[in-house]
Amino acid sequence: MARRVRGQLLDALLESLPDACLGVDRSGRVRFVNHKALKLLAPDPRAEWVDQSIWDVLPTSDFLKLLGQTVKSSVDTAVEQVVLIPPQSLCLCQLSPVHNEENRLQGWVAYLRDMTPVQQIEKGIDELLRDVNQQLRTPITAIKGYVETLLEGAYQSPEVTKRFLQVINEETNRVTRLVMSLEEAANPNVKPADPIQLDLIPMLRRAANMFEGVAREKNLMLVCDLPERLPVVEVREDEIHKVVVNLLDNAVKCTGLKGHGQVKLHAEARRAGLEIHVSDTGVGIAEHELQKIFEKFYRVQDGPAAELGGTGLGLAVSQQITQEHGGQLEVRSEVAKGSTFTIRLPFKR
Ligand code: ATP
Ligand code: MG
Repeated sequence: MARRVRGQLLDALLESLPDACLGVDRSGRVRFVNHKALKLLAPDPRAEWVDQSIWDVLPTSDFLKLLGQTVKSSVDTAVEQVVLIPPQSLCLCQLSPVHNEENRLQGWVAYLRDMTPVQQIEKGIDELLRDVNQQLRTPITAIKGYVETLLEGAYQSPEVTKRFLQVINEETNRVTRLVMSLEEAANPNVKPADPIQLDLIPMLRRAANMFEGVAREKNLMLVCDLPERLPVVEVREDEIHKVVVNLLDNAVKCTGLKGHGQVKLHAEARRAGLEIHVSDTGVGIAEHELQKIFEKFYRVQDGPAAELGGTGLGLAVSQQITQEHGGQLEVRSEVAKGSTFTIRLPFKR
C-alpha cells in the first residue's frame, strides 16, 4: 500500500515538473515519462511508452542522436541544445546517468526544456531593433544630407540656411521623440499621447521638404500638390508623419532608377474623410505582390527595385498606424508605370 502511494506521489511529482522528463534503464527500456515529454517527443502524445524500448518509440531527431552517443560513450552528464523533429522546436536537453549504491549504472534520466518561448522573445527583440533602426535611419539621413549641403556652400545663402536649419531642427526633434517613445515602451504603464484635432498641411509640407535634397540628387521632380488648408482630423501627428515619410521614402527610392521621374504628394478632403496620395512614376509593383508588400519584412525580390536597401517594415508599420487611426492604406500600381499609395483618414471616429 505504502509503495503504491509512494508511486502515485512520484507520478504526480513528475507531471508537475515544468520540463519534459523521462527515464530509461540500462537496456534502453522506458521506465517513466511525463506528459510534457510525450507531447514534445512522441508523434502521438497519447502513445504508451512505459516498458517499450526507447530505440523503438523515439522518432529520429537530434535528441535520439545525443542519447545514442551518451549511452555509448558513458560520459557523466551531457547538456546540449537539440532540435526535435517533429515539431522542430529547439530544446535544452540534459542527460544524466543514474547509479546504484555500488556505483553501477542503472539507466539515464533526461530533462528537456522547450526553448520556443525564449526564441519568440529573441525574435521580438530582433524585430524591435530593426524597427528602431528603420525609424532612426530616415531622420539621420535627412540631417546628414542637409548638413553636408550646407557645408558644401549652401550656408552662403541666409534664406537656404534658415530653411535647412528648420528641417534639421524638426528632424532632431523627431529623433528625440522616438527615444522618448522607446522609454515609454520600456515602461508600459505610460499611455501613448492622445490624438488631437489637426489640419495636416504643415506636417505634410515638412514631410515633403525632407526629400528635397535626395530628389534633387536623383534628378527627380518632387511635386507638392496641397491645398492651403484641410479640414481637421483627429490624429497622432507624429505617427501620421511617419506614414507619409515612409511612403515618400519608398516612392523616391523606387523612382528614377533610369535618371528621371516624378514623385507627388497630394491631399484632398472627401465626404467621409481625408485622402493623402503619394504617387510616383517609378518601377511599379506586380499584381501578385500588392498584398504581400504590407507584410512585415517582405521586399520584392525580383525586378529593378530588388537591390534597393530596406528592411521591409515601412509599409507594415504604416498600415498598422493608419488602421489604428480608423483609416486604410491602399495601393494601386502598374509595373514600369508607377504606384499610388493612398492614406484614408476618417473625419469622425
Ligand atoms: P523599410 O521601409 O523598412 O526601410 P522597405 O522600403 O523595403 O524597407 P516597405 O516600405 O515595407 O519596406 O516596402 C516593401 C517593399 O514594397 C519594398 O521593398 C518594395 O519592393 C515595394 N515597394 C514599396 N513602395 C514601392 C513603390 N512606391 N514602388 C515600387 N515598389 C514599392
Ligand atoms: Mg520603405
